[in-house]
Amino acid sequence: MAADLLIRAARAVTGSAGEAEHPLAVGVTSGRVTAVEPLNSSRLSGRDVLELGPDVVLMPGLVDSHVHVCEPGNTEWEGFATATRAAAAGGITTLVDMPLDSVPTTVTAEALQVKRKAASGRCHVDVGFWGGVVPGNGPELAPLADAGVAGFKCFLADSGSPDFPPVSPEQMTEGLRLVARLDRPLLVHAESAEAAAAIQAASGRSYAQYLATCPRGLENLAVAQVIEAARVTGGHAHVVHLSSSDALPMIASARREGVRITAETCPHYLTLAAEEIGDGETACKCSPPVREADNRELLWAGLRDSVLGLVVSDHSPCTTAMKEPGTGDFGRAWGGIASLQLSLPLVWTQARARGFGLGDVAAWMAAAPARLAGLAAKGRIAPGYDADFCVLASDEPFVVDEAQLQHKHPATTPYVGRRLYGMVRATILRGQKIDLGQPHGQLLSRAAA
Ligand SMILES: [Zn+2]
Repeated sequence: MAADLLIRAARAVTGSAGEAEHPLAVGVTSGRVTAVEPLNSSRLSGRDVLELGPDVVLMPGLVDSHVHVCEPGNTEWEGFATATRAAAAGGITTLVDMPLDSVPTTVTAEALQVKRKAASGRCHVDVGFWGGVVPGNGPELAPLADAGVAGFKCFLADSGSPDFPPVSPEQMTEGLRLVARLDRPLLVHAESAEAAAAIQAASGRSYAQYLATCPRGLENLAVAQVIEAARVTGGHAHVVHLSSSDALPMIASARREGVRITAETCPHYLTLAAEEIGDGETACKCSPPVREADNRELLWAGLRDSVLGLVVSDHSPCTTAMKEPGTGDFGRAWGGIASLQLSLPLVWTQARARGFGLGDVAAWMAAAPARLAGLAAKGRIAPGYDADFCVLASDEPFVVDEAQLQHKHPATTPYVGRRLYGMVRATILRGQKIDLGQPHGQLLSRAAA
């Protein structure tokens, strides 16, 4: 039977860990993958045929499970239209929005409906939502799960948003107990508020001084607390944006003991190094901070050992003024890095230099985030999955040009002028090439357990 679309790829990866590139034929009908066959198979035909030559790799569309869209409420920072344009331009076909930096924050089912309404009809890629765990919203968690959130997020340190207060380690444990009953993961921003309270806040243009105000110990202590919460509750805890490589052996050891703990890191921790960040370069400010080059190499080793399983953007946008370009003051500048569109080429540029393949990248950036967010039809190229693809010219270099970036404030990215590998030639969502004309992204709900 002829598929709607037959993709014939000289090089492809499907999202299985450690997979080498291989030639593949993929049949797509009604927006879903119906068959995956060897390229020379005579069993597949298509009404339309997309022939991909040896210069490009067919990959699963990326799933970015850590994006701050900020709409509604802070649409001058970012919004669904611009964030999903950037995602599409970067080969990302699904993003999952964080529950804070919008007004209202996604801590009740009503707030989720407000957010879904704001997103409706504006999205160029598919969008899912995380809910929030904040002090006192325990009764809201089941309604949020029923309304389709992918899972929940909490902070152990100040989130920077008064509408999204942190929880204590005890409240985190209680929250994890509740979300585990709902069969959802709890994502934790793991920096210790108690340890941070003893440290004087950052000020001034020196990156070294800023880094000294957020030492590894803040993360190490909090990750230990997350591990113990997962151990005693049996719930799945997930450490977001891990920066301190010190925490990797703890996480590895807990996993060996059967604790349900996973962790992600981000393109900036895998690309930048504290030694190379100049004074006043506030575009590089994020929390937890970018650390030294040797820490970066240990994070890469964590990916190699599968202690770290996901790489996600933590796209955390703001206006250009919020980055304090005039003063370069790390104390006053917004903490967050805007890099959604560049995630894939940033990670690929570093990965290829360290001997990894695009099979690894697809596992970290598509299959594993989809699994975390419970998106059963996303993140892999396999029969029954959504026909979401990224077509990447993997060996093609380019220089990051502000004018090409689709997110709302391109000047806030620290990567302008950087030479990267991997041009996204096409992003395909449910069998349809995204052309940034009419948005055809859907709002996703995680199915009830
Ligand atoms: Zn974040």
